Amino acid sequence: MKCLRCGCCCIHLDVAIPNPDAIRPDGTLDKTHRMPVMFKRAGEPCPHLTFADGIAVCRIHEMECYRGSPCELFEQVGSQDDVCVLNAYFRCMRLSEDEN
Ligand code: SF4
Ligand code: SF4
Repeated sequence: MKCLRCGCCCIHLDVAIPNPDAIRPDGTLDKTHRMPVMFKRAGEPCPHLTFADGIAVCRIHEMECYRGSPCELFEQVGSQDDVCVLNAYFRCMRLSEDEN
């Protein structure tokens, strides 16, 4: 799946993410922390999300704590070359909200 870096899924989906407070300076997750993984609710921007020139960037994407996370494992139906279907879905959602 080709990600268009809109950032919508990092805002509009419920997802379990590495708790920012449990990430060590070396990028690994402190599993002894009382809550190494936290729940990000739909509609709330992920604390790891930032934008650079309008392009969504995940701050922890290259870190060890990202490995095996629900975000890394997230897949969609279709071939690997297909453009993300969620992007179109969120765009439609925005258009219909603008119309109301
Ligand atoms: S909604 Fe799709 S295109 Fe947008 S950031 Fe998420 S995976 Fe990428
Ligand atoms: S951890 Fe990264 S990929 Fe996952 S929701 Fe947050 S910003 Fe998006």
